[in-house]
Amino acid sequence: MHGTRILAEADRLMTVCNSCRYCEGLCAVFPAMEMRRSFEDGDLNYLANLCHACGACYTDCQFSPPHEYNVNVPKTLSIARAGSYAAYAWPRALSGAFARNGLVIALTASLSVAAFVIGFAAFNDTAMLLGRHSGPGAFYRLMPHNAMAALFGAALLYAFIALAVGLRAFWRDIGEPARTLAEPASLWQAIRDAGQLRYLDGGGVGCVNADERPGDRRRLFHHFTFYGFALCFAATSVATLYHYLLAREAPYPWWDLPVLLGTLGGVGLLIGPVGLWVEKSRRDKALVDADQAGMERAFIAMLFLTGLSGLALLLWRETAAIGVLLALHLGFVFALFITLPYGKFVHGLYRFAALVRYAHERKMMADGA
Ligand code: SF4
Ligand code: SF4
Repeated sequence: MHGTRILAEADRLMTVCNSCRYCEGLCAVFPAMEMRRSFEDGDLNYLANLCHACGACYTDCQFSPPHEYNVNVPKTLSIARAGSYAAYAWPRALSGAFARNGLVIALTASLSVAAFVIGFAAFNDTAMLLGRHSGPGAFYRLMPHNAMAALFGAALLYAFIALAVGLRAFWRDIGEPARTLAEPASLWQAIRDAGQLRYLDGGGVGCVNADERPGDRRRLFHHFTFYGFALCFAATSVATLYHYLLAREAPYPWWDLPVLLGTLGGVGLLIGPVGLWVEKSRRDKALVDADQAGMERAFIAMLFLTGLSGLALLLWRETAAIGVLLALHLGFVFALFITLPYGKFVHGLYRFAALVRYAHERKMMADGA
C-alpha cells in the first residue's frame, strides 16, 4: 500500500521499467531503480527527485500511450515530486501554497514590502524619498541599515530554517542516515553532477520538446538562472562582509566586487528565466503536469523581477528614482526569500540531496558493500 495514488502509479511504472531496463543509460533514475526489487514510498520519492524531467524516457518508450501499459515516467515522477514538496513543507499548514497561484502571492508580498519601505521613507522625510543620493550610505538614507538588515536577515533565516526542516523530512523519508550527507566523495560527485546538470541531457541529445527535436537550451537557460542566482547571493554576501568587516557602506563603485558579481548575476537572472519561460511553452504537453505551472512560473517570474530591479537600481542609482527602485528591489528580494520554501526552489535542494544519495549508492556498489 502506498500513501497516495500517484506513488502507487510510480510503483507500477518502476516495476514495468525494472523488467524492461531499456532506458538504463539515459539518467540516474534507472540505475537507482535497478538497485531495488520493490519500492516503498521513500524509494519512489527519492527516484522522483532524482529525475530531471528531460523527457527522453517517454520518447524512447515502446510502452508509452497509446500502449495499454500507459508508461509515462516523466509526468508520473513530476506529479510525485510535487507531492513530496508539499509533504515535506514546514510548517505543514503552508504545504497548500505549492498548489496555489504562487505568482499572485509573491507579487502581493513584493509590492506590500515595497509600499512599506516607501511609506517608511516618506514618513521620515518625503524629500529623502524623492531626492538624489550618492556615495557610501546612500541606500541607508532611505531606510537605516539596521532596519534593513533586521527585516531581510529575519526573512532569510526563516527561509533557511524552513528549507532545513524540509530537507530533514526528505532525508528521513528516503531512509538515509545523516552521515551520508557529509560523505566527501558522494558530496563532491553530487556537486559536479548538479553543477553540470548532468542528467538534464536526455542521455546526450538534450531535452524533448513538442516538435520532438531534442535540444540543450533548457539546460543552458537553467545554468544562466542557477549561476545568476548564485552570483547575486555571492554579491550580497561580499557586501555584508564589506559592511561589517571593512566598515564600507553600499553602494559601491561599478568596478568593486559586489557590483561586478551582482551585475553578472543580474544578467543571468534576466536571460535564464526568460529562456526557461519560453522553453516551458515549447515542451510536449504529455510530459508536464499542468497543475504545477503556477508554481513554476511564479518562481521564474520572481527571479526575473529580482534581477531586473537590481540592474535598474544599478543603472539609475544616481537619479531621483533611487528611492522607488530600491523599495521595489527590496520588495522582490523579500518576497523571493519568504516564498523559497514553498515554491519551485525546493526542487534544487531535494534533487541535490537525491544526487548525494545516488553517488553514495554507486560508491557502495563499486566497493562491493
Ligand atoms: S520507460 Fe519504457 S522503455 Fe524505458 S525502461 Fe521504462 S518501460 Fe522500458
Ligand atoms: S525524464 Fe529524463 S531524467 Fe527523468 S527518468 Fe526519464 S530519462 Fe530520466
